[in-house]
Amino acid sequence: MTANAMVKAEGVHKSFGAAHILRGIDLEVAPGEVFCLIGPSGSGKSTFLRCINHLEKINAGRLYVDGELVGYRQKGDKLYELKDSEVALKRRDIGMVFQRFNLFPHMTAVENVMEAPVQVKRETKAVARERALKLLDRVGLGDRAGHYPSQLSGGQQQRVAIARALAMEPKLMLFDEPTSALDPELVGDVLDVMRDLAESGMTMVVVTHEMGFAREVGDSLVFMDGGVVVESGNPRDVLTNPQHDRTKAFLSKVL
Ligand code: ADP
Ligand code: MG
Repeated sequence: MTANAMVKAEGVHKSFGAAHILRGIDLEVAPGEVFCLIGPSGSGKSTFLRCINHLEKINAGRLYVDGELVGYRQKGDKLYELKDSEVALKRRDIGMVFQRFNLFPHMTAVENVMEAPVQVKRETKAVARERALKLLDRVGLGDRAGHYPSQLSGGQQQRVAIARALAMEPKLMLFDEPTSALDPELVGDVLDVMRDLAESGMTMVVVTHEMGFAREVGDSLVFMDGGVVVESGNPRDVLTNPQHDRTKAFLSKVL
């Protein structure tokens, strides 16, 4: 149902100066859905995720998260930009995991996971630590809580980054090629954590080149190219029976 979509994009456009990157994105992510986004480099996947997460402002169209406009408030026919403090409040509800994990290097794993709840939500350290330890356990790193990022593998760091995002108890998780920077043997553990998260009912938008994950875990798959949605549907259908030449050409290179 349209009314309760977790993410809804209607004709979303985004330009950087003269570069028109998103050229009318229409899509809908239902609550609890694992929504995979694939497409060639430069097609606007990261830009779209950044728009959802208030890191970029769209130029035209409408973008909603959980029924609320992103970045703007609507009064009558007019849109007003949200204040920074209002944006900050909304961003708390959205977790994002990047290709590069960007952990704080001078903090241990558990301190990384505690940081936002303590600093942003003003939680007590005791409460934040207890949740952080549970989350590290959940991502298979219960025995690494006291390790610094430099003492962890890339895959372990990425799992800490996922735990860190979950510590804010988001209603939506965005993943931007979370396994692309990892050595191949470390990819599986990260995908397992994401699969587990999906099974717990989390709404996830996942930009990925892992077609196996998209096929097995994804509920929907969108192929983007040139800033538009070229094709979308059930991942198995799109991957095994693509309808558009551009999708076929892309898949023939990555599958
Ligand atoms: P993808 O994630 O699909 O590879 P991106 O969304 O990162 O694509 O980028 C799409 C295009 O937008 C690229 O051509 C990129 O150079 C451009 N772009 C992204 N961010 C900016 C920015 N802040 N300023 C100017 N151009 C940008
Ligand atoms: Mg990208």
